[in-house]
Amino acid sequence: MTKEIIETVWNYDNSYARLPNIFFKRTNPTSVRSPKVAIFNEPLATSLGLNIEALRSENGTAVFAGNKIPEGASPLAQAYAGHQFGHFTMLGDGRAVLLGEQVTPNGERFDIQLKGPGRTPYSRGGDGRAALGPMLREYIISEAMHGLGIPTTRSLAVVSTGEPVIRETDLPGAILTRVAASHLRVGTFQYAARWGSEEELRELADYAIKRHYPEIEDDENRYLSFLQEVIKRQAMLIAKWQLVGFIHGVMNTDNMTISGETIDYGPCAFMDTYDPATVFSSIDREGRYAYGNQPNIGVWNLARLAESLLPLLHEDQEQAVTLAQDKLSDFAGLFESNWLEGMRAKLGLFNEDEKDKPLIRDLLEMMQKHRADYTNTFRALTFDKPEETILQGTTEFTQWHKRWEERLGRQDESVDASKKLMRNSNPAVIPRNHRVEEALEAANNGDYSVMERLIEVLSNPYANSPEQIDYTTLPAPSPRPYRTFCGT
Ligand code: AMP
Ligand code: MG
Repeated sequence: MTKEIIETVWNYDNSYARLPNIFFKRTNPTSVRSPKVAIFNEPLATSLGLNIEALRSENGTAVFAGNKIPEGASPLAQAYAGHQFGHFTMLGDGRAVLLGEQVTPNGERFDIQLKGPGRTPYSRGGDGRAALGPMLREYIISEAMHGLGIPTTRSLAVVSTGEPVIRETDLPGAILTRVAASHLRVGTFQYAARWGSEEELRELADYAIKRHYPEIEDDENRYLSFLQEVIKRQAMLIAKWQLVGFIHGVMNTDNMTISGETIDYGPCAFMDTYDPATVFSSIDREGRYAYGNQPNIGVWNLARLAESLLPLLHEDQEQAVTLAQDKLSDFAGLFESNWLEGMRAKLGLFNEDEKDKPLIRDLLEMMQKHRADYTNTFRALTFDKPEETILQGTTEFTQWHKRWEERLGRQDESVDASKKLMRNSNPAVIPRNHRVEEALEAANNGDYSVMERLIEVLSNPYANSPEQIDYTTLPAPSPRPYRTFCGT
């Protein structure tokens, strides 16, 4: 099927398409009836070096809808495999098409991918489509993550297609334009290891190194360095998730990037009441991807990456395993040091003290016992408003607060400096589930203003501005726990 190619404002390159052809299948998006822009990310477009006016034109919308192909693009669906809830499966982009890589004026390279553009050679039984609600949800939460300073794929636009998608009921269809450092996943390497030759696996690894870790290209064993760097970035990323209470919900190996960006916003949600066992996803019945289990799953997934890389690590299999295990064993320490550093900042601490760990642990245990809100507890500490946490009035909290103040006294920095550090480390606002739902409901009824206000508030979560106060309140108690569903 040929498609109209239009001249646009993009500056595409297609390095992924130059990989061996087992890694993708060329495919075009399927045109949709009457696309309309639901939301467009101007600041992101600007930072990509794109022309706002051109993207706002009919041709711009046609590109976001998959109705026209921008000049220079080379649409394809990527091959990958993955462990889903622990079970190995052949997957691939069943409802995504990579248009190409936008090279920005300062030379950075970003994948531009349409999510929900119709069937691809990897669609299996699916329709390759996406519904408006889940695509707007991805937009809101990924942009909120960006605002929080957490590495993430981003959202450039959502267009409604004017066509229904058939799920349990008919839903309005939509396409999200996703921007990513790349879409290379742990699952891409699993695919290469299982179905490719050693040479193809090596080409993929060299490609990933060049794209994300060029500084290790000349290392003696660059594949081992590569494994180490991915482990480092994932340890840092998952620590950042834990620090803000983000629960990914579906940490399958195909949803873990090589770049260290958060990807695939399906059933994710932010924890309110502090509890390590928190699960929102309706399909995660055993809590595999519960909040407190995310670091364990992180290293489990990285072990799948390590396994896939074994033939490149050493010609002797046994030695390759030893090398890989050695790197994997660093994860726990790396995670903990990132997490501790972040927790210290959340409590206004600049230096290190061996009693910091119990101090933090006791606060978290108190939160869990009294079912305190995670974000608002840190907010109350930041703004000296203990009355705003339900912990206030308990003897435990009074004693803990005293210990904390004493600890703050054992550093050279001023109280003001501490407070500033806390303000920059504790978000005033997170995308609270009831707020996200409210925005999506309004959007489904054609009113995007509620969502636009929410996105605005979430874009600068550390500001603690007056208009944010409204967004810090908790939902009314509900007899049923909040549930999320995979974005299909
Ligand atoms: P996800 O849950 O988004 O990570 O998707 C897991 C796998 O299912 C990926 O290979 C997707 O491409 C595929 N998939 C999800 N939804 C659809 C759909 N509506 N049509 C075809 N493939 C899909
Ligand atoms: Mg996925």
